[in-house]
Amino acid sequence: MAECRLCKKEAVLISKYLGVCLDCIRYNFAEANPYIREAHENTRKDFNLAVSGVQDKDGIFCNLCVNRCKIGEGQKGFCGLRQNLEGKLIGADKNRGNLSFYFDSLPTNCVADFVCPARGYGYPEFSYSKGPEYGYKNLAVFYNGCSFNCLFCQNWHFRDGLLNIKNQNYFSPIDLVNQIDENTACICYFGGDPSCQLPHSIITSKLALKNKKNRILRICWETNGTMDEKLLEEIIGIALESGGCIKFDLKTWTEELNIALCGITNKQTLENFKRVATYIKKRPKIPLLVASTLLVPGYIDEYEIEMISRFIASLDKSIPYSLLAFYPSFYMQDLPTTSRKYAYRCREIALREGLENVHIGNIHLLSDMY
Ligand code: SF4
Ligand code: SF4
Ligand code: SF4
Ligand SMILES: [Zn+2]
Repeated sequence: MAECRLCKKEAVLISKYLGVCLDCIRYNFAEANPYIREAHENTRKDFNLAVSGVQDKDGIFCNLCVNRCKIGEGQKGFCGLRQNLEGKLIGADKNRGNLSFYFDSLPTNCVADFVCPARGYGYPEFSYSKGPEYGYKNLAVFYNGCSFNCLFCQNWHFRDGLLNIKNQNYFSPIDLVNQIDENTACICYFGGDPSCQLPHSIITSKLALKNKKNRILRICWETNGTMDEKLLEEIIGIALESGGCIKFDLKTWTEELNIALCGITNKQTLENFKRVATYIKKRPKIPLLVASTLLVPGYIDEYEIEMISRFIASLDKSIPYSLLAFYPSFYMQDLPTTSRKYAYRCREIALREGLENVHIGNIHLLSDMY
């Protein structure tokens, strides 16, 4: 139980750390914003990350993501991946990925697994099997660093690894390509977020596709959708050609709510999503674009789901949509997991808005508590 610092309402579904309720965020953002900023700035200080936009007018420009940092002498970009030292950016770049990687046996619990070739969809062109691709594996590439600062971040540990940019284990595209063997059916770039290191994933993908000869190797990205539009065009081409997909996490509809929960606007994400949607018809056999939303109790309410669903349906009703159960994490540990009743209600709303394929993910996390 927490109290909204603004309207003084008390509820189980108010995050104590954020300190403001959904109504105050949505209808009184001007007054809620100082509390929101304070919450985000404190999380950033805990990890020695830039507290807000990095916009030094004499700084070095980085246009990889929505933040479009201008990184001044000695400063780090918002993502924490690169630093201006004596007028040069050091840290992650297209040849030096700040990442970790591992293999997962297929089929795996990928956000898109309910529609992807690892389950047999698109056989024989894009899948090794008519059903689940047993015996094959996925190369999971976890890019450290992120363009958002979600207070509920479920992969927050990467922040520990960003404390010292100089002392990092960097991997080149060739290092990754060397991991791929004949049982590797797909690559998934996620994180953190791949947006902040997209050129590295593009070079890796091109090399991997060149080396693969006649076998299937699908290439997918899972992202908050904040990348630069031109780079997005490149990954669309790679995903289309390889039988892969781009999985967009549409965290919110209301921009103010995105700023409250994730620290940054969602405008670029929604624009980028629209852009990918224009390519869906080029490969109708298996989905190029998949959407998901984490059902954060108390904040992602029915209105958010209705508007996100309407937006997706207005682009293409066949876009698969996964509603993900929330698990309390990072600075939002006091919120409960998503209730089963609420998750199914959201599914009904998405179907009512016209979406044809709505899935509930992380079902094991759903609770019957409220
Ligand atoms: S990485 Fe792509 S192809 Fe592989 S399991 Fe995930 S969605 Fe399917
Ligand atoms: S976009 Fe994902 S990795 Fe980035 S802060 Fe949000 S939850 Fe964490
Ligand atoms: S990737 Fe984004 S957050 Fe990182 S330095 Fe570049 S513009 Fe800033
Ligand atoms: Zn309030």
